[in-house]
Order: sequence, then C-alpha cells, then structure tokens
Amino acid sequence: MTNLLEVKNLNIEYESNRGKVHAVNNVSFSIKKGEIFGLVGESGCGKSTTAFGISRLLRPPAQITGGSIKLNGTELMNLSEQEFDKIRWNKISIILQSAMNNLNPVIKIQDQLLDAILAHKKMNVKEAIKHAKYLFSLVDIQSDRLNSYPHELSGGMRQRVVIAMALALKPDLIIMDEPTTALDVVVQNGIINKILTLQKEFGFSILFITHDLPLMLEICDRVGVMYAGELVEVMKREELLHGARHPYTKGLLQSFPPLKGKKTRLKGIPGNPPDLITPPKGCNFHPRCPHAMTQCMEYEPQILGDEKGLVACHLYRVEGDTLEQISATSERY
Ligand code: ADP
Ligand code: MG
Repeated sequence: MTNLLEVKNLNIEYESNRGKVHAVNNVSFSIKKGEIFGLVGESGCGKSTTAFGISRLLRPPAQITGGSIKLNGTELMNLSEQEFDKIRWNKISIILQSAMNNLNPVIKIQDQLLDAILAHKKMNVKEAIKHAKYLFSLVDIQSDRLNSYPHELSGGMRQRVVIAMALALKPDLIIMDEPTTALDVVVQNGIINKILTLQKEFGFSILFITHDLPLMLEICDRVGVMYAGELVEVMKREELLHGARHPYTKGLLQSFPPLKGKKTRLKGIPGNPPDLITPPKGCNFHPRCPHAMTQCMEYEPQILGDEKGLVACHLYRVEGDTLEQISATSERY
C-alpha cells in the first residue's frame, strides 16, 4: 500500500511567557491509503497540536518550526493559504472533540453544509441540497433535521452532522481528534461503528486521536504512542497488545482494564509528564521509567524500527533485521 500522508520531523512550539513550549518534537509517521492510524497518549502530549499542524488550524502562539508534511507526495508546508484552502475539505477534513467546535451555533445546519459544498463543488443550490440530504442519510439522520440549529440536536446527533460535513467532498484523509470523548458510551459506540462502516464503504484514511487506548486497539490498524511531544512507539494494533516495547506503552496498557478476561488491579504509571518548556535531558520518560539506565538520563534515544514497528528507547538495539532488547533491569539507575 502506498503512503497517503507522510509527516517527517515535525516540530511545533508555543510561545509562552515562561518560554517556548516544545509541544511536538521531531515527530515522523506515515498513513497508508485506506489505513486507520491512531495517535494515543496522555493529555498534553501533543496529539491535538500535531493534528492542527497537519490541517493548518494552528494559530499564534503556535508555530511550526520545522519538518515536512506530504499528502500524496505534495509538500503541504510550501502551500499558500489559498492553495491550502483547495485541500481543506477536499483532501483533508477534520473532526474535533466537541461538535460545537466544528459547527457555528447561530447558523442553521443546512446553510453550514451548503457553504462547505458550494465553496468547493460545481453544484447549484438544488443539487447541493440533494447532496446534503444524501450526506445526512449516510449518518442516519432524517433530512428534515437539516433545518435545525446545532443546539436543537443531541450531542451524538451533532457529532454525526460533523461526520457528514467531513465527508461532504469525499476527502482522502479525515483527522478525528477525540471525536467521541465528549459522548456517553452507548452513543460513542454507535458513532464509532458508523465511522468504521463509512470508512469501509469509501476507503478514506483516518488519523484517529484519543487518550483511550482500548478504543484505539479496537479500531486502528496501526497505533503511534506519543509521550511529552515525541512519538515513542509505532506498532500494528494486533502486535501492540502483547508486544509493546516502550516502557511507557506498557504502562499505558496497564492503566486500562483488559478488554476481555479477568479484571486485575491497574498499575498505571506513577508520576506526571514533564514540563514541555524544560523537558528532562536524555529520554523524556526517564523520570517515570521503571527501567531507566544511566544513558537514559544523558542521551535522547533514536527511533529504531523493524517489521514489527518503531520504538525510541535505550532498551533496544538493532540486531540484523530486528530489534533486540538488551537485558532489562527492573532497577532504576
Ligand atoms: P493533547 O492533545 O495530547 O492533549 P495538546 O496538543 O493539546 O495535547 O498540547 C500539547 C502541549 O502544548 C501541552 O503541554 C499544552 O499545555 C501546550 N499548549 C497547547 N496550547 C497552548 C497554548 N496556546 N500556549 C501554550 N502552550 C500550549
Ligand atoms: Mg487534544
């Protein structure tokens, strides 16, 4: 499968009165055509900043300070605002956590949908209304709801409207930033199933962002784990559950109840993520890592890869075609 999106060495900072916040640090990953790629990590690790960087929604004090973002081989960083406008909705659309961040509260849903359609598609109003009704049918909403204001719909229905809007121009990539986090579990399940059905039908790629690892393991083909602004591990979903390599990923897996089987006491990860203005020297995770060694405090680990995935941790080294774990101690330095 070919890559649809290629992000390389992406760096994003926020200016703050205490100094620069290194929110995204040298993050690289790719998403294949038709793939559902997940980004997971604790709150504040840089997931939304990455998503906003890709979809050009960052506003000051945020600044992209380096890297490359290619979509179908085209460098997006070089595009002017005008050129990027042609990509937005058409090739990339984004769904945010709260539908109210995606929808204008004072404009009827039909008008918002028509705006998006008419701005990009050669359609007259009648055709656009027909298309809007079709989009509503995709997300199981009666077309008479098109005449509503966002606040007249339930949270779940609003998020379905947002999905319909995201699909309006059949983009190649839909970025979903915690699309169901604000909803209760039953509504969440309905929406996730809808997303998966639509993805199968239309074949778009998804960058799915959540702090909810079990949810990620249910729906994503590959998962990238972020910690303190860095991508520390990437793995296929089926490998991750039992084959995670990074101590942070292992800790995350132990922070959630198992999907199936006996419930055991959750271990979690002691401590808190570092301040991103003054991140620790060496590996960002070393202050919380149960395996931290002397070199972890000194040198930043390189990201290494084999066919199973990628990991940035001093516990691993390249041996031929694979990564091998050096004898891990359970002691801290
Ligand atoms: P996530 O989506 O993983 O929860 P974010 O991308 O929202 O994380 O945030 C990444 C980091 O950037 C956090 O440490 C956050 O405090 C910081 N950050 C986000 N917005 C701003 C801002 N406007 N000014 C300064 N720092 C910010
Ligand atoms: Mg976020």
